[in-house]
Order: sequence, then C-alpha cells, then structure tokens
Amino acid sequence: MLRGRVVVAAVAAGAFVAAGQSMAAGEGHAADSDDFEFTANDASASFGTAADSRTGMGGAAPAPEVLPVTKSTSASMELEKLNRSSRVTEAMAQAEAARVAAEEAAKRPKVVAPAAGRFTSGFGGRWGTTHYGIDIANSKGTPIVSVSDGIVIEAGQASGFGLWVRVQHDDGTITVYGHVNTITVSEGDKVKAGDQIATMGNRGFSTGTHLHFEVWNASGKKVNPLPWLTERGVSVA
Ligand SMILES: [Zn+2]
Repeated sequence: MLRGRVVVAAVAAGAFVAAGQSMAAGEGHAADSDDFEFTANDASASFGTAADSRTGMGGAAPAPEVLPVTKSTSASMELEKLNRSSRVTEAMAQAEAARVAAEEAAKRPKVVAPAAGRFTSGFGGRWGTTHYGIDIANSKGTPIVSVSDGIVIEAGQASGFGLWVRVQHDDGTITVYGHVNTITVSEGDKVKAGDQIATMGNRGFSTGTHLHFEVWNASGKKVNPLPWLTERGVSVA
C-alpha cells in the first residue's frame, strides 16, 4: 500500500516544500492521514527519511533513499541570498531614514517664539516691582510651545503663575511659561523646539489672557528674554 508522505519545511523567507514518497507497510494508517513535519529554517534537515516504494522488494522494508542533496543546497543558497538581500535592503532603509532625520533636524529651527500674540509687557521695572519676563497676549487656548529642545522639569501649580511649565535646555538654561490655562506635557517629557507644552490662560496674578515667559540662565539668573530670543533669530516684539 503506497501513500504519500509530505515533508514540509517552513522557512523564514518563503516556504520551500520538499516532497518524498515512502512505503508505509504495516503502519496501518489511512491513506489520507499524511504525516507532516515542520522545521524552522533548514530544508535539508528533513531529508534522509524518504524512501521510494519502488525500491522495496517483496514486501521487505524499503531501502532508504537519500534525496539529492543539491536541491537542498541550492535552496539553502537561495535562502541565504534572500536573507542577505533583505539585510542589505534593511540597512539601506535605515541609512535613508537616518539621512532624512538629519536633514529634518538641520532644517528645524533651534529656537522659536513661545506663542503667537501681541507683545504687551517687557522685562524690568514695572508698577514699582520687577517684571522678570515678557508677556505675550492672545486668546485663551492659544498654543504655547517650548522655545527650544529640552526636558520638562516642572509642570503644575506655582504661586503667582497659577499653572506653569518649566523646561530645561541642553546648555542649562531654563525657560518658564506662566499663567497657562492647560498643561499638555508631563514632568520628565522630552520636548523639541516648537512642541506644544500648554495653552494660554489667565490663571494666577494675571490681568488678562497672556503668556508670561521667563528665561533663567545656567546660573539661575533671570535674564531679559527679548535679547535672548533676538540673538537666536526670534522676534516677538
Ligand atoms: Zn508677565
């Protein structure tokens, strides 16, 4: 009684199927209950067990016939080629992605304005006290963005500011965004120049919807944000 025995090798880069025949004398299986063997990635691993019933004589156990090894060798080589070409394709895609990212990074401004709006108050003496920032007024909900790349070191309540966000930049400078209506980042978030961090509001000691923006240098001194922005190519006044 002859029945087919199918050896299936499932391989990563596409299925390679090797089929052999064997005689299953005395095993008592039904003809349609083929055995399947699956191997991960080596087609040749499944060879060596297949036998051709025609070589069996007089009901004796068939002599094992090893299938031509050239078939599995060429299949392995094809797979190796596929693997190699997919690695090359992957490397090329990665290089292209890196090139695009570098190009985007180069085009991206290093410093941007913290918000769109009217410049309403400058840095310095005001109403018998010192105003340590600049004010930019616009409607409630206007996006407020980080002026430069950095990390959010504080996002929450602050006396006088109602709610504020503070971002520390690579050179140690800290920028402060006060009176915000909503905060859209969390402490510890990394931000890029232009990433939204809050929306404009009127919280704390504020006389109208605006952003109060401060720049603290690396020594912690509050400096005039206007020249700091101007020197970096940004004009808000
Ligand atoms: Zn202010």
